Order: sequence, then C-alpha cells, then structure tokens
Amino acid sequence: MRTPEAYKESLRAMRPNVYKFGELIEDVTEHPATRRSVEGHAQIYEQAMLPEQEEVFTTLSSLTGERISRYLSIIRSAEDMLANSRMKRRMFNLTGTCTGARCVGWNALNTMWSVTHDIDKKFETDYHHRLREWILYAQANDLAVAGALTDPKGDRTKAPSEQEDPDVHLHIVGWEEGGITLRGAKVMIAGASAANEIFVLPGSKYKDSDADFAVACVVPRDMEGITIVEARHPNDGRDLEEGFDNPVDIGGITQGYILFDDVVVPAGRVFMAGEFGFTGRLIERFITPYRSAIGGCVAGQGDLMIGAAVLMARANGLSERTFRQKLVDMSINNETTYGMGIAAAVLGKVHSSGSWLCDPLLANINKVHVATLPYETKRITQEIGGGIAETGCMPSWKDLGSEEYGELLRKYLTADADGMRRAKAARMIEWLTLGSGVPGTMHGGGSPDGARMFVSSKTGLEEKVKLVERLMGEDEQDPGE
Ligand SMILES: Cc1cc2nc3c(=O)[nH]c(=O)nc-3n(C[C@H](O)[C@H](O)[C@H](O)COP(=O)(O)OP(=O)(O)OC[C@H]3O[C@@H](n4cnc5c(N)ncnc54)[C@H](O)[C@@H]3O)c2cc1C
Repeated sequence: MRTPEAYKESLRAMRPNVYKFGELIEDVTEHPATRRSVEGHAQIYEQAMLPEQEEVFTTLSSLTGERISRYLSIIRSAEDMLANSRMKRRMFNLTGTCTGARCVGWNALNTMWSVTHDIDKKFETDYHHRLREWILYAQANDLAVAGALTDPKGDRTKAPSEQEDPDVHLHIVGWEEGGITLRGAKVMIAGASAANEIFVLPGSKYKDSDADFAVACVVPRDMEGITIVEARHPNDGRDLEEGFDNPVDIGGITQGYILFDDVVVPAGRVFMAGEFGFTGRLIERFITPYRSAIGGCVAGQGDLMIGAAVLMARANGLSERTFRQKLVDMSINNETTYGMGIAAAVLGKVHSSGSWLCDPLLANINKVHVATLPYETKRITQEIGGGIAETGCMPSWKDLGSEEYGELLRKYLTADADGMRRAKAARMIEWLTLGSGVPGTMHGGGSPDGARMFVSSKTGLEEKVKLVERLMGEDEQDPGE
C-alpha cells in the first residue's frame, strides 16, 4: 500500500494533461487549482497507515488475501458497506469535502464485478476475467480511480443515437482487433485531476440503436487522446489568501470535464462494448451502493456544521443551549442520511458473483434525503452563525492584521473573548455552507427526481390498496344489498 508521498509522486510522474483558466497544469500536486484536491485524497492514504483506522480504511483482498485499501476492494457483505459509510463520514470529517477520485471508481469497479459476471454468462465473453486482472493490478499499485458516467447528454429528451451530434455521449467509433476507440466526453467528474485512472461507465440505460454508447472500461488518466479541463470553482483563488481565509487542512472538491479524442483502449481494459441490454442493471447497481454510502458523506459534513455552529454561538457569547432545538434538528438530519444508508446496506443481498447488492428502494429514498436534509442543515448553520457567517461578510485576515485599521476591525469583531476565533468560525461556516464544502449531493450520484422515479416504480400502490381493502372488509355485504 502506498504512502501519501508515493501517491503524490505517482501523479507527478504522469503526462500533464489537465488545464484550467487556459493554462496547462504541469504538476497537479502543487498547482493552486488542483493541490487541495490532491491533498484531500492524500489524507485517505495517510488514514490507511494508521493502526486505529486499519479496520475501516483497509481490508483483506478477496482475490489475493493481501491487505489492500478498502477503496479497491470488492464489497461482499453488509459489514463492508458499513465500513464504506464509516470511511466516507471520516473523510468528510477530515477534509470537509468529497474525495471522489477514490470513491466513484471504487463504486464503478464493484458495479462491473457483478455486471461482467452476468454478461459473460449470457454471451460467453471474458469481461469478468479482464476486470479481475485489472483489479489485481489496481490493488497491487494502490491506485486512485475516478468514476465517469455523466455524458454531456445534449437534448435530454433524445436517446444518444437520436442526437444531432453523436459525440454528446461517449461512444465507440472504432472496433479494432486489440481494443476499441472512444470519442466524446464525460463531464463533472469528481477528483479527475487527483486520479491515476478513470473508470468509464455508460451514463444511462440504452436500447439496441444505442449499442455503440454501451461502453465500460478503465483508462489511465493521462492516456494519449485524453484532455481534462477543470471546472471553475468558488474555491478558486483561495490559495492566494492568507491565515484563516485559507485554512490548511480543508480539502478541495474539483470536477473535471474529460475530453476523449479518439482514445484507443486495449481490449484487456474493456468490460462492456455494445451489450446495451445490460446498461439498465449497470446503472441500478451503480446508484444503489452510491446512494447508500453517500449518507455517510453528508453526515460527515454535517458533523462539521454542528461543530462550527456551536463554536460560533460560543464566540458570540451565547450558550449552545440557546440553539438547542436547532442543533437537535441538525443532528437528526445527519443521522437520518447515515442510518438510512446503513439500512439500505443491511437489507441487501449477495449476487452470484460474490458482490453485495444494497436494497435499491431504501438507497434511492436516501438519495432524496441526501438532496434535501444537508441543505436544511446548512440553512440552520447560517441562522446560528449570524451575518458574518452567512456570506462570509467580514474583512480578510490580511485586513485584520493591518497596522492602520486592523486593531479597530478586531475590536469590532470581538463579541465574547477573541475576535479572531469568531472570524475563523465564521469563515469556516461560509466555506461549509456556500463554498467548496457544499457536498454536491443534489446531483452528485444522479438527480433526486431520478431517485423519485425509482421509488415510484417500487412503491407497489396496488399491494397497499389491497391491505386496506382487506381491513375495510370488502368481502362483507353492504347494508341494503
Ligand atoms: C459535485 C458533483 C460531483 C459529481 N461527480 C461526478 C462523478 O464523479 N462522476 C460522474 O459521472 N458524474 C458526476 N457528477 C455529475 C452528476 O452525476 C450529474 O450532475 C447528475 O447525474 C445529473 O445530471 P446533469 O447534471 O446532466 O443534470 P440534467 O440532466 O441537466 O438534469 C437537470 C434536471 O432536469 C431533470 N431532467 C433531465 N432529463 C429529464 C427528462 N428527460 N425529463 C424530465 N426531467 C429531466 C433532472 O431530473 C434534473 O432535475 C457530479 C456532479 C456534481 C454536482
């Protein structure tokens, strides 16, 4: 298993292919646009080295028996899923944000573990073996793997093959003996610049005319033909600031637009190529564990919001008792998403490939909570924090240090004891509720309306009607009949 430094070294050794603000980033570990994201992921490697975190962050490989990062393991039980939720909660506690360059790729490899098993059974292909070989390689090298499903999509009402420009969904443009050629893009990919490899999955359920879009594979992030353009972000420029305006330990969520310009993927790295009939179950098996464990992510960030709100109340000279009910509501929101995700895991079952499938109904219900409750928690945090927290409405750390007017600013920021502590807590709330700390759980992992459609299809209205009909005594004769 790799140390944080070995992980960063591996990124430095890659071909520079990440751009932002028109500039090619030579070293993603140092450049202000990507450094925080890399540092956040490096903390995962650090945690895995700690004896007290070993049980959560590492596990024994079901393929080799070797100790590996949990982020490259095959999830085989409810206990593994529980560790997934615990690990994500802890990572949000430590970085305040998302570390998608390990979690989404992990989710993708687990999805394909069962899906390749099913495809091989039907078509006698050897996808499962190929995936196994790649997982062995990934485990041996302790890779950071991002996951890429989201296509640009074009007109949302049209299937990929009906779009004016076929490239708005990543697709196969060449079928060579030794592999396939891909063209198109994947967008909003979390942690792309912090990843060694990118696990590509189809973005939706497809029909026969969309067979060329049904592609799953894994590619090195710096492969020939791949260009990544990082999204502009509220955190931009923060590295240029000083003091509490630029807290050192918080992570930095980044999303990349990944452009595929005729990328040739060797067959050994291809796990689906044209088997459109399996894309529906692929999507379901991706979103189910994802929407389960994401409850841990938002709870982990909620922990920080509760802590920041209490610190702010105290700095204002108020006791947290003033806000007891609000803090209780925040805690309820937190544990609802965490607990619901764990319930989805516990009610799961083993697939014949050996991987664990969480309960899809509960996981999708959790997605709706995850797209709702943390935003209410943010609202409460701002309410407790007051105006200086709401929009970070106060002078910078540098101005507070000014020889000319700093003393006056510090005097007017002081409420209880220390004005600087109050300012620090306020800046943290601004970050948690408005900036990079926003977990992106409205659409990350798919839209809540998509989850609602799933819930609708599984709710079983007629069964419920029958239950009530029985209680109403439908068979009994009505008076006068
Ligand atoms: C922070 C963050 C991190 C992310 N990380 C990743 C990642 O690591 N990997 C990855 O693959 N993706 C990632 N994504 C992308 C995410 O999966 C998508 O944002 C999500 O799937 C929704 O797609 P979209 O943004 O294109 O929304 P749109 O498709 O534009 O949808 C917008 C709204 O319209 C509705 N809608 C769309 N189509 C229809 C229709 N035909 N009929 C009715 N309503 C419709 C949707 O339900 C939604 O409410 C990330 C997103 C965020 C915000």
